[in-house]
Amino acid sequence: MEGKGADKFVYDFAEGNKDLKDLLGGKGANLAEMTNLGLPVPAGFTITTVACQQYLASGAHVDGLEEEITSHLEKLEEAMGKRLGDPADPLLVSVRSGAKFSMPGMMETVLNVGLNDESVAGLSAQAGGDDRFAWDSYRRLIQMFGKTVCEVPGDEFEQALHNAKSAKGVRDDTDLDADDLKALVGAYKDVFAKHTGDDFPQDPREQMDRAIAAVFQSWNAPRAVLYRRQERIPADLGTAVNVVAMVFGNLGADSGTGVAFTRDPATGEQGIYGDYLQNAQGEDVVAGIRNTVPLQDLEGLDKKSYDELLGIMATLEGHYHDLCDIEFTIERGKLWMLQTRVGKRTAAAAFTIAAQLIDEGVIDLDEALRRVTGAQLAQLMFPRFDLAGDPEVLTKGVGASPGAAYGEVVFTAERATELAAQGKDVILVRRETNPDDLPGMIAAQGILTSRGGKTSHAAVVARGMGKTCVCGADQLEVSPSAFLVSGHTVNEGDVISIDGTTGRVYLGEVPVRPSEVVQYFEGDLDPALANEPLVAAVHRLMTHADERRRLAVRTNADTGPDAARARRFGAQGVGLCRTEHMFLGDRRELVERLILAEGDKERQAALDALKPLQRADFLELFREMNGLPVTVRLIDPPLHEFLPSLEDLAVHVAVAKERGESAKRSEKMLAAVRRMHESNPMLGMRGVRLGLVVPGLFGMQVRAIAEAAVALAQEGGRPRPEIMVPLVGAVQELETVRAEAEKIIAEVVGDSGVEIAIGTMIEVPRAALTAGQIAEAADFFSFGTNDLTQMGWGFSRDDVEGAFFWRYLELGIFGISPFESIDREGVGRLVRIASEEGRATRPDLKLGVCGEHGGDPESVHFFHEVGLDYVSCSPFRVPVARLEAGRAALPAQVTG
Ligand code: PEP
Ligand code: MG
Repeated sequence: MEGKGADKFVYDFAEGNKDLKDLLGGKGANLAEMTNLGLPVPAGFTITTVACQQYLASGAHVDGLEEEITSHLEKLEEAMGKRLGDPADPLLVSVRSGAKFSMPGMMETVLNVGLNDESVAGLSAQAGGDDRFAWDSYRRLIQMFGKTVCEVPGDEFEQALHNAKSAKGVRDDTDLDADDLKALVGAYKDVFAKHTGDDFPQDPREQMDRAIAAVFQSWNAPRAVLYRRQERIPADLGTAVNVVAMVFGNLGADSGTGVAFTRDPATGEQGIYGDYLQNAQGEDVVAGIRNTVPLQDLEGLDKKSYDELLGIMATLEGHYHDLCDIEFTIERGKLWMLQTRVGKRTAAAAFTIAAQLIDEGVIDLDEALRRVTGAQLAQLMFPRFDLAGDPEVLTKGVGASPGAAYGEVVFTAERATELAAQGKDVILVRRETNPDDLPGMIAAQGILTSRGGKTSHAAVVARGMGKTCVCGADQLEVSPSAFLVSGHTVNEGDVISIDGTTGRVYLGEVPVRPSEVVQYFEGDLDPALANEPLVAAVHRLMTHADERRRLAVRTNADTGPDAARARRFGAQGVGLCRTEHMFLGDRRELVERLILAEGDKERQAALDALKPLQRADFLELFREMNGLPVTVRLIDPPLHEFLPSLEDLAVHVAVAKERGESAKRSEKMLAAVRRMHESNPMLGMRGVRLGLVVPGLFGMQVRAIAEAAVALAQEGGRPRPEIMVPLVGAVQELETVRAEAEKIIAEVVGDSGVEIAIGTMIEVPRAALTAGQIAEAADFFSFGTNDLTQMGWGFSRDDVEGAFFWRYLELGIFGISPFESIDREGVGRLVRIASEEGRATRPDLKLGVCGEHGGDPESVHFFHEVGLDYVSCSPFRVPVARLEAGRAALPAQVTG
């Protein structure tokens, strides 16, 4: 018996099946499946993806491949009763790409391989003396082979065709007769020779081998590389190559070609959907040479083939238990199946079709859940642009927080709040945002920055608020009152529209449609939509996901309204409240006082002023999450973020001096800013370090948390606060904070019955590697995968995505930004080690994650596998995380 994989590179269709997609690609596996179902598939064989991988890795050689192809070609010739290149009765083949994941139009196909100056006559004889057909097939071969195998510019062939038509004074290709096409073959050969320096190859086997090599190479064509990156398809899979006996749909009125769906790909309705084109080849359908007719019309044209096709469609649906799409050709009244696959569909159709198949008893709820994804659900939650008016695209940045927003351009947070207060929609445009911009970000419909990636401040905050955001649009030149891009100057007050999914920025106002799925989650669905099949399907699958999942889903929220919304979306608590976000706006002045305080008394006064405000913040949050855990993280960012910029201050002081004015306070501030300046603030005085250096700061927060909890308990509520210490790297740091916190808690809580857990972020690699010790002092761990990625890779999270990730993606160093989807092997390993070692010390240690990865579908599956207790993500990602956590918990799929 022949082996599989590397020791066997070629499979006849009869040898494969639909589960061998890794090896045979989607097209090859499904052609094999149809062959084995006894459906009419032209004979052929598939060269594996492993052969492609070896071909690309070795610089174009695969040991033994040629011999295997020879033996499979012989079998194919035997099956068809024809020989490749036989001058009297040639076998012709198509050479088609077919990767594991469909990459429509990205790779190459060559049809009619096997034709040459001699066999063209044999083909004509096969076609009952149809010379025109034979020469047309030959000229198509030269054109396709020239373009795809030898990189001859396609428009040179187009020009030659155009010349032939003008010389004859006709408009359509079909008006050229056999002699015209024969002359055109001559012209095409000249084009070929001019560009390649060689004659068009007459040896059919050489044609075939070179076409196969070209398909292998097309795996790395720039457009294929780009497509893979967008679709998150791994770069190392390679494509399979299918060599299939040609059948012709262009042999007259009793021939044709078409596509069919076994049900409506938009709604899932059963029925007959598709198009048919009489007397044509597949490429003619794509080129739109003539208009297709609805598939139903085939009944009148060729009832026998039509009935057979309907029977096959039913067989395929019954077999795949899903919507299939099909390509077929009819050659002189004989139906041939050229391709089938489980059909692509929109996000909305994925949900409705899954629900429909449950109703029809075709699949169960688990299987239905497997067939929808969090990414699809996320798509359904964004408002969308209606692009019917074809708006002008100004530029493209990183789609950082999905959604569609338009408004007048403003360049400062103040202006944003001012205009929003007048009822205007605004888009806040900044080079990058900082915590001071928060009021403006809240007021704006959307945020556009020219710097920073998906974990920049703008991106993280915008996602947290569910606000549309495009980051890192690096072609923008942002000045204080205008931005310049691709020849346009956009001034304050001009209207732009931004798409946070695609990253596109449009000039002018593009109309927006709201999402009915969000209305459903919000519980304020328009009654007219309550029976919408899509909403019903989402409800059904979400309910099942919740039943299945083991992971709890919490939210990252800093305010009462955010927490309340997340709770409506199904959040089971707050996994991260970033308290530094509470020190903005009018409270800045209080923080400044704290920073500038001289001596214990002044500092204590500043802290005393902050405490009641913090207490009120926490009480609001605990109330909204009554009965559910709320993890409050002690203040994290560098203090200098609260101070004015060094440059601004220096100028201010210099000007004041020049004018002889007093600038005492500014000077004091300037000295503080200078003192606190850090070269690497992300690695500097943050988190627990700050808490250990500024006496009373963490203590004030702990007291405010404990008092708020007691207050809620006294109202009859059930507070479940958890205090979290950021940026811990050594157990001693945590022990020190814990000792102080426990004292304060004991003082405040008394016999109120309130219990407060104390735990830590695990976001510094050293903490992950010493988790066994740290667990001694922690009731819980929450993985801060943003910082863990930053420090694990040594990537500055605000800079690298815009700076050089494009190159890393191009080189395949990673397939997706590790800030977006967890790097399982590296950063993920740190998470795994810390989980195992933490639980070895303390078996009941609660484990969660609150970095951005908590809302990423792929990463949610990883956290399920590692055994975390919960993921925490921004409110809008909560439904996505619930769905994916449910999918992650499904039993392994049984194939076959
Ligand atoms: C993290 O680092 O993953 C985290 C949640 O903290 P922050 O993003 O606030 O640094
Ligand atoms: Mg962090």
